[in-house]
Amino acid sequence: MAKIVMKFGGTSVGDVNRIRNVARIVKSEVDNGHQVAVVVSAMAGETNKLVGWTKELSPLHDAREYDTIVAAGEQITAGLLAVALSAIGVSARSWLGWQIPIRTSNMHGSARILGVETKLLNERLAQGQVAVIAGFQGIADDNRVTTLGRGGSDTSAVAIAAALHAERCDIYTDVDGVYTTDPRVVSKAQRLDRVSFEEMLELASLGAKVLQTRSVELAMLHRVPVRVLSAFDEDPGGTLLCDEDDIVEKNPVTGIAYSRDEAKITLLRVPDQPGVAAAIFGPLADAGVNVDMIVQNVSEDGRKTDLTFTVNRSELDRALSAIQNASPHIGYKDLIHDANVAKVSIIGIGMRTHAGIAQTMFRTLSEKGINIQVISTSEIKVSVLIAEEYVELAVRALHSVYGLDAK
Ligand code: ASP
Ligand code: MG
Repeated sequence: MAKIVMKFGGTSVGDVNRIRNVARIVKSEVDNGHQVAVVVSAMAGETNKLVGWTKELSPLHDAREYDTIVAAGEQITAGLLAVALSAIGVSARSWLGWQIPIRTSNMHGSARILGVETKLLNERLAQGQVAVIAGFQGIADDNRVTTLGRGGSDTSAVAIAAALHAERCDIYTDVDGVYTTDPRVVSKAQRLDRVSFEEMLELASLGAKVLQTRSVELAMLHRVPVRVLSAFDEDPGGTLLCDEDDIVEKNPVTGIAYSRDEAKITLLRVPDQPGVAAAIFGPLADAGVNVDMIVQNVSEDGRKTDLTFTVNRSELDRALSAIQNASPHIGYKDLIHDANVAKVSIIGIGMRTHAGIAQTMFRTLSEKGINIQVISTSEIKVSVLIAEEYVELAVRALHSVYGLDAK
């Protein structure tokens, strides 16, 4: 008898009928003879509504109360699904984070899971009872409810699967898997049967919003086989996230991701001397700004150079004022910025062993007349920053040149 974890996202539990549908999918796994733990998100739109109310009352609210409020969405779905399961004759009960308990750090609003207690859960699972678990939430050592950051119920599911040593973790969502790129941009995008944890991590952090990045990190760390599949289609499709070694044919490029949430900042003529990068990025870190791509050139005369970096567009103002405040310590001639930029990335584990992959990307973009502003690379990824208006053109051209278009 295998233990499996199933997770259903907000649209999959978006109304009472959809919850009935989920109950049917869960029942089929119970009928297959599995022990089942189900993790649920809040009904679509609920979390946004709760966040909205909180901010409306006070933009500077206590993060512990924020968690108390936004964790409520998942509590409702867990109860409703337990009721729906019982109604079709499946023994089930709801579990809130603190009841299991799922212990987390006390970073309210973006807590990290420290451990999942399995004793009580296992007892019930062994009795054949389905555990319906509220995702996204836990309890900290201050004895208060925490939440894991937006999209966090994916992470709850993977953490629970790891703790239970589940055979697999099935993430049901409104798409039938992970695609070579966004099908809204490229109609010839194809579903991937398998994707390695490493590639998925890049895809998730580069803008493919199928799974919370943290959940992929956890799956990779604990080697939890994760499937992404549709809660709506008769044929649920599915993409398996797995170890690189389980992928026989390693494509040089597996997927193309893009993100429009970018902004570029350039400091002109900063001193080319030790300590300057620290003087720039220290204040940004203190202001809680995440810096992504960075380029610094060598200076012609050994004295002054330009430095460019990118940040999340929503953090642009914060970044600019952090730099301006630190300007006496940095010393630059001018500070310029551009919010009309986007990042396009190619990702593939085969890049480790194939040469010339980046060159194909640069050539393709140049043939389309697209200027590359910043480049960054890792072992399995090349990202470029381009003007936002060219994103779709770039993604389509790259998708085709790397042979990813469906026949
Ligand atoms: N309900 C939470 C959110 O909307 C968690 C999740 O859906 O994963 O972010
Ligand atoms: Mg989600």
